[in-house]
Amino acid sequence: MKTFLLIGLGRFGRHIAIKLNELNYQVMAVDKDEDKVNAILPFATNAQIGDSTSEEFLSAIGVRNFDVCIVAIGDNFQSSLETTSLLKELGAKKVVARAARDVQAKFLLRNGADEVVYPEKQMAVWTAIRYSSDHISDYIALGDDHAIFEVEVPDNWVGKTIGQLDVRKRYHVNVMAIKQNGKFAMTVITPDTCLPGNSTILVLGTQRDIQKCFHI
Ligand code: ATP
Repeated sequence: MKTFLLIGLGRFGRHIAIKLNELNYQVMAVDKDEDKVNAILPFATNAQIGDSTSEEFLSAIGVRNFDVCIVAIGDNFQSSLETTSLLKELGAKKVVARAARDVQAKFLLRNGADEVVYPEKQMAVWTAIRYSSDHISDYIALGDDHAIFEVEVPDNWVGKTIGQLDVRKRYHVNVMAIKQNGKFAMTVITPDTCLPGNSTILVLGTQRDIQKCFHI
């Protein structure tokens, strides 16, 4: 089981802690604000009040012992950058830092972050694509070109099998799963799988091929 060091317990950090706790991961949560630390206690294995820009404080935590260190500080970029770079200097295995602007992402990557998350931008892209068509229920970008889309089964596909439709050859997309009433109904798709009405499918392909295939 992976262990996490989570620094910065604002709204973003708090959501991360809640989710990791739900998934049963061990989380050490850190913030300089005592109230934030107290509020996270039900969702963290351990929590400490402290300034993550202090080398002494971070050394005492033993950052090497965590599989992933997440720097969820947002507004205070100076703190975020100092924390990120200190974590790496102290031997952290993997540092994931939060960026609020493109330029911040660059600086963080140059100063110790192994990966950057960019919540505002990532959610903005998701929101734009998700609501660009009534037929899209969900979307996950995979690199620059590829994506998984959850889309409604087109009317002219209902009742036909994947083999009959020849989806891969004709449209260059892969149907990975079928969902009904928001729940996964089938995750093993074969040429004989018949597509039901009132359902959605998860398709993997290039964004272009998917958009062309489903007219979205
Ligand atoms: P969010 O957008 O996640 O709600 P925020 O806008 O409330 O965050 P930020 O400045 O992004 O506030 O900081 C997030 C959290 O990180 C805050 O709870 C803050 O106390 C904490 N934090 C900021 N700097 C440090 C630091 N040097 N050491 C420890 N915690 C810090």
